[in-house]
Amino acid sequence: MPELGTQERPLRVAIVGSGPSGFYAADALLKSDTAAQVDVFECLPSPFGLVRFGVAPDHPKIKNVIRVYEKTAANEAFGYFGNVDVGNDITLDELHQYYDAILFAVGAATDRKLNISGEDLEGSHTATEFVAWYNGHPDYRDRRFDLNTRIAVIIGQGNVAVDVARILCKTTAELAATDIADHALRALAASKIEEIYMIGRRGPAQAAFTEPEIKEMGELLDCGVDLRAEDLKLNDASRAEIEDPANKRNKNNVEILEAYLARDDSARQRRLKINFFQSPTALHGARRVERVTLERNALSGDPGRQKARGTGKTEDLACGIFFRSVGYRGVPLDGVPFDEDAGTFANEQGRIVGSAGTVIPGLYCTGWIKRGPSGVIGTNRPDSAETVAALLADCDHLAAAPRRDSGDLYRSLRERGVRVVNYEDWKRIDAAEIEAGRAAGKPREKFTRVADMLSILGDA
Ligand SMILES: Cc1cc2nc3c(=O)[nH]c(=O)nc-3n(C[C@H](O)[C@H](O)[C@H](O)COP(=O)(O)OP(=O)(O)OC[C@H]3O[C@@H](n4cnc5c(N)ncnc54)[C@H](O)[C@@H]3O)c2cc1C
Repeated sequence: MPELGTQERPLRVAIVGSGPSGFYAADALLKSDTAAQVDVFECLPSPFGLVRFGVAPDHPKIKNVIRVYEKTAANEAFGYFGNVDVGNDITLDELHQYYDAILFAVGAATDRKLNISGEDLEGSHTATEFVAWYNGHPDYRDRRFDLNTRIAVIIGQGNVAVDVARILCKTTAELAATDIADHALRALAASKIEEIYMIGRRGPAQAAFTEPEIKEMGELLDCGVDLRAEDLKLNDASRAEIEDPANKRNKNNVEILEAYLARDDSARQRRLKINFFQSPTALHGARRVERVTLERNALSGDPGRQKARGTGKTEDLACGIFFRSVGYRGVPLDGVPFDEDAGTFANEQGRIVGSAGTVIPGLYCTGWIKRGPSGVIGTNRPDSAETVAALLADCDHLAAAPRRDSGDLYRSLRERGVRVVNYEDWKRIDAAEIEAGRAAGKPREKFTRVADMLSILGDA
């Protein structure tokens, strides 16, 4: 029997998930000295994960990274199994029949909870849902967000929170030429929201947003930024933190916020209100959200280690729509050990491990499901390189899969009614979206229903 990873018997790897980490892993495998066949499985017909369904529609340049993934997909040892949900359409056991190793790159599809009363009232949403809705994700397409209200509250101050705030703050004219989903554009055009609160538990020196994102909030067509002067008075520890050259980003953030406080943009109609040192303790309303109770926090501790603690002082803020944006979390998959605390697959440098910490042969992970929801798109490249290095180091010990033909698997899935979308199929859907967008002056008009994507292929 020829050795795995040779021309006679290429290593066969199934990558589950076609976001950045899946594509970087495929690229690392295909560029390695080991001969490999890599098939990427994606539950949606469309590839690219959060590059398509997370990255904001008004940040098109970031999506140019897709060109890099296109090059990977052009490799003849790359296969794409779109519209195949691993765990539902195909089991892990069946994948093991065809692949020597399975590498999960499934991302972090859900949100952390605040665990406060009233969190499940109508009008209380997660940032995940809203982002997926305006980006046209088929699973979120029919969600309803009542924008017929004056005040929106967003809890969290990371870049996802800023994305949500910016989409709510922008005028229709600013959004119309983006690839925002048509249903979202129409709903946002009718929005009555005038005040958008973005609330963080710590201070401006610790805010998680990055400089370009917070700067952009001051450049919107008809939105001013309001801050509370007392929030910008830094304690000694925070002052020391931002004077540390390693925290230049935080210092720049503080300076941008100080400039907002000093300027007069009162003529702008919509207002972004950035509140620091507050945590929500309860949501109230008869059926839907009407107000939120916020507790004032104070920071204590040494520079770099300050913790926000509630002071007991509370205030109520009226609001008609509420979003929590306090971190994404992975979703367990049958047969793969899950680390409940971290919200990731249990792993050591990308090797999946069981409860006793023993490595499970042939199972790997990368990206957000490996390290949690942190970092930018580029962070996934070295992360995937680490996992692929582990996989290749294990190559000699992997159990060779008994069946070796991706074509057989393709046919078997089709026979049981799964309409596998291969990469050529995706390119046809892609072309149709771009064509539809042309008429509307948008880079693309996304199909927001799987059936509509498949109908382009003619044989759905
Ligand atoms: C709202 C938002 C905005 C962001 N904006 C930026 C930005 O502007 N710039 C930047 O650099 N980074 C940004 N990021 C971060 C970036 O998107 C992530 O670092 C990156 O997408 C993580 O890649 P991933 O491959 O681990 O996960 P994902 O991109 O989530 O990809 C996971 C893929 O797996 C698929 N999948 C899941 N389960 C299954 C299954 N059972 N079977 C088959 N397929 C499955 C999913 O459908 C998805 O396509 C943003 C993130 C979010 C949430």
